[in-house]
Amino acid sequence: MEKRDTLIALVDCNSFYASCEKLFRPDLKNRPVIVLSNNDSCIVAASSEAKKAGLKRGLPLFQQKQLIESCGAAVFSSNYTLYADISRRVIMALGELAPSIETYSIDEAFIEVPFRLGADPHKIASYGREVREKVTRYTGIPVSVGISSTKTLAKAASRLAKKNNKGEMEHLYIIDNENRIPSLKAVAVEDVWGIGMRYSLFLRERGIHTAYAFSLLDPWWVKKKMTLTGYRTLLELNGEKQVNPEDPSSGKKAIISSRQFGRPVTSLEELLEAVSDYATGASEKLYRQSSSAGAVTVVLETDRHREGEKYYSAGRSFLFPSPVSYTPDIIKASCALMKEIYSSGYNYKRAGVILTDIASTDKMQKELFEEINESGERKKLQQAVSEINFRYGRNTLSSLSRGTGTLKWQMRRQRLSPRYTTDINDFPVVSAG
Ligand SMILES: [Mg+2]
Repeated sequence: MEKRDTLIALVDCNSFYASCEKLFRPDLKNRPVIVLSNNDSCIVAASSEAKKAGLKRGLPLFQQKQLIESCGAAVFSSNYTLYADISRRVIMALGELAPSIETYSIDEAFIEVPFRLGADPHKIASYGREVREKVTRYTGIPVSVGISSTKTLAKAASRLAKKNNKGEMEHLYIIDNENRIPSLKAVAVEDVWGIGMRYSLFLRERGIHTAYAFSLLDPWWVKKKMTLTGYRTLLELNGEKQVNPEDPSSGKKAIISSRQFGRPVTSLEELLEAVSDYATGASEKLYRQSSSAGAVTVVLETDRHREGEKYYSAGRSFLFPSPVSYTPDIIKASCALMKEIYSSGYNYKRAGVILTDIASTDKMQKELFEEINESGERKKLQQAVSEINFRYGRNTLSSLSRGTGTLKWQMRRQRLSPRYTTDINDFPVVSAG
């Protein structure tokens, strides 16, 4: 991903939570759908129909009762277990299309584009379309694709992609040298990745209203006023790739270590070996970043294109009692998860280990973690891993709703949709005839 002139795409699921809810409810296809935050207090996702009706993300529920009724919107509580599972499927689909993937959040991932800056624009566009179409075909989730030479520009492109809603370039936007200036003029400064609300106000007060105006500022002034993050953002908008454009302490990043096997793998033994290897690779990356992970996910998949064979795909997450960076802990948890999802009788094509809830650990914190690990914490971890079996649905939930771990049992979720994909009792039932 950090190679100098390879292009990067940001793949962003459209109205992700609302799209997940629609997936299993064909009756809601063209109806407004909204999803509520924890405790059902405000709107966190709105389908395009809901947005048209005026229901937006961030609005408190109690103020919108009338509008919801008048437009006939379907209302759901957040079903994180479902969203996490669909998110994993999107990542697996991207795995078939891109040489490397970096998930950014539950509904966004950066992928390496197999073209370089300056390549034939038609070829780049047709690759973008392929990504968009395949993800939607495999998962049912509509996505937007923004392509450019840096992550910050790809993010800006994905914003513009959302506005393209018809024709060949539907939900697709490419920022290249030719259109960079008009594109950045169309992006508001507060919508630039890496510029927070506070700095947007600061910039607007100084007459800087667009991404383009920001890109023209003196880099040294920006560094002084807006720290290294602002400086890197500025360079990225000018097409200069930065190794770490976004603040590493934001905790949104994930580390993925996933590979296709050279031949079909069937035995659990071999899969455990592979997973240990991936877990080691991911831990090393974590260590190099001086970070720790709050959760680990293991995924497993057969070849969906192999004729005459049943397709099987599974994934499960585990939330660590406290963030870890110690390789053996990550290997242990990954192997326990693999044992949970393994099903015999399949030819597996791919497995992977994904570390999420990543936060930087300064030296003191690191020592603290080590100390904790030396005492009772390690025992607690093992005990917790063995409990995954019957708790996994809840774990998946807490691993993706950062910061609400202790609240998960008290969450009020009155309008929760069934766990369609992860709980066998909630599978949708299809009857024919
Ligand atoms: Mg999205």
